Amino acid sequence: MDDIASTESPLEAAARTVGIDTTDALELLADETRLAILLALWEEHEPHADDAVPFSRLFDRVDYDNRGNFSYHLEKLEGQFVTQHTERGGYELRTSGLKLVRSLIAGTGLDDVSVNGAGIDELCPICEAPTTINYQDGVVLWTCTECEGVAPDVSEWGTLKDHMDGVLGFAQFEPAGVADRTPAELRAASAVAEHQRARSMFDGLCPTCSGRVDGRLEYCRDHDSNGVCDTCGWMLRLFAQFQCRTCEEYVDIDTKQLALFHPAVVAFYENHGISTRFHADDPESARRLFDLMTGHEEELVSEDPLRVAVRVTVDGEEVSVTFDDTASIVDVSR
Ligand SMILES: [Zn+2]
Ligand SMILES: [Zn+2]
Ligand SMILES: [Zn+2]
Repeated sequence: MDDIASTESPLEAAARTVGIDTTDALELLADETRLAILLALWEEHEPHADDAVPFSRLFDRVDYDNRGNFSYHLEKLEGQFVTQHTERGGYELRTSGLKLVRSLIAGTGLDDVSVNGAGIDELCPICEAPTTINYQDGVVLWTCTECEGVAPDVSEWGTLKDHMDGVLGFAQFEPAGVADRTPAELRAASAVAEHQRARSMFDGLCPTCSGRVDGRLEYCRDHDSNGVCDTCGWMLRLFAQFQCRTCEEYVDIDTKQLALFHPAVVAFYENHGISTRFHADDPESARRLFDLMTGHEEELVSEDPLRVAVRVTVDGEEVSVTFDDTASIVDVSR
């Protein structure tokens, strides 16, 4: 009965938190000719060239039979995704159009990629068994072949749940970045990707939508640090959680890793000849990142207010940074 009485479109009915601009944009895209125009403009786009695509070339490219109808669809896209340059005599994608096509290219890649249990030359830091790289559902998983890893039973993993046995590390990664990398390169590149995503969130900027970010420390009061804790389901007692206010993008990260973002820690390592610069093409990056992070010591300084200190020690010297409940660094001591 409800659907007879409803005057809402399916898009309007589905929308709850997004604004009218979002539903309008989705509606605008519900036509194959318009999608073809966006794709053709992207194909013709040269990042550093200063030219636009003339109407006739675009019309030929899309191979549409009705010029009037084609203009109609092109006009629909103008303003939102496409812009017309009168002085350059043609059309080009606006940033929104570019981002739309780019996200599809990054997300779907050329093939439906997956990596299953590809061995890499890195032993499990917990039990020293061989480890593997897996790629499922947009996430790179670094996995131990023997032990239970660090987070074996987390319900929120959804479709990834079946792949979480023995997981040691995981990172969101676009399929397009998987295609031309070996498993070891994938391990390094994905560790760098997750580190940078966390960096952006820690600095208050959502890497997905540029929105504002809220941070907090998650802390298990009844933690059993002997392996994976029954109460919280994690090996870590404490981690930082950042979430975007706009698009709900989030990242959960060890505070020991967050310490690597503070200039005092970077300088401290630099003074001891240790680089905190991690590069996607450097296979040592992932290992060094992991070793530095796990070498940091964490201490619960107080519960109320919540203060957690992360101590970094090299050659008997130390620097320590203190986090508050919003996962911000509020104190540094050298
Ligand atoms: Zn293991
Ligand atoms: Zn716990
Ligand atoms: Zn966001």
